[in-house]
Amino acid sequence: MPNLPPIKRFTTRSGARIYRIAFDFMPNLSGRVYLLLGAGAPVLVDAGSPAATETIWAGLSTVGAEFGESFRPEDLRRILVTHAHVDHYGGLAEIVRRTGAEIGVHALDRRVVSAGLERLMIAEHAFRAFLRRAGVAEADRSRLLEGFGRTKRRLESVPVDLLLEEGRDIDGVRVFHTPGHSPGHVCLLVDDVLLAGDHILSRTITQQWPESIAPYTGLGHYLESLDKVKGIPDISLVMGGHEPPVHDVYDRIESIRASHMRRIDRVLAVLRDSPQPLTIDEITGRLYDRQTAFHAFLALTDVAARVEYLDERGRLAVANLDEIRDEEVPAYRYQVA
Ligand SMILES: [Zn+2]
Ligand SMILES: [Zn+2]
Repeated sequence: MPNLPPIKRFTTRSGARIYRIAFDFMPNLSGRVYLLLGAGAPVLVDAGSPAATETIWAGLSTVGAEFGESFRPEDLRRILVTHAHVDHYGGLAEIVRRTGAEIGVHALDRRVVSAGLERLMIAEHAFRAFLRRAGVAEADRSRLLEGFGRTKRRLESVPVDLLLEEGRDIDGVRVFHTPGHSPGHVCLLVDDVLLAGDHILSRTITQQWPESIAPYTGLGHYLESLDKVKGIPDISLVMGGHEPPVHDVYDRIESIRASHMRRIDRVLAVLRDSPQPLTIDEITGRLYDRQTAFHAFLALTDVAARVEYLDERGRLAVANLDEIRDEEVPAYRYQVA
């Protein structure tokens, strides 16, 4: 297990306190939730994975004991969820049982939280069709599909109490809808500090998915959401769901954008170098080693997001129109337009 960073206090420009609590999520990946005090009622931003609840609860208790806050975990009034991925909302049910806190999430991620099984079945249906269109062989399809649902199937659904709409202010927190990594992803601004979920991370380029799996994801939305954050003036600190804080978010946004442009260029280069048109699976195979099912899944969906982005902008041609006319769910073969 990696060493988790200790609980740390950050103070915003107007004196609100943000406590960062880290938890183990996967090997080599820890997550973070944030307790906000002094802006309004006590708020927790994100709820961690189901297995993280005891770590988070201990962290919430520490804030009262070690930082001189008159706060007990039971005082929590709201949990605002940046996006409905397991490491951000998986702990909701248990924390709500202990505190009675209200849950806030964006409408586009709402039913993943409140009706998880329904959304999982719909997402798996879209994912199955996507794998065929992407040209993935049958044996790999079932392996990828199995990995897609594994963690989500066990999650307990919980009712959502309030919707995090663009521009809304809740307990001193301003909501910005930043779709891309997730349809209902939000960034939450507290004075000059932005709690950015997985939208902007300090080291990693945020995972992308094609809109053909989930509407309102997609690289186009993601890049627009980066622009939205760039337009927020005077952010002095960004803290995300993983990794250390970002101190110069405007600079970080430029390097994330440049990285995406390089990744897009790599897809175009692979297609130009190939004597025949390629499926998304074939493009992925030329760009990445895919040792584990998890890496294969991330690589495939990331490349698919880039192909979709290029296709939506008229940069690609589809070569196998006969198959698309004759087959129910054909694989698409792309070349540069
Ligand atoms: Zn995420
Ligand atoms: Zn995450």
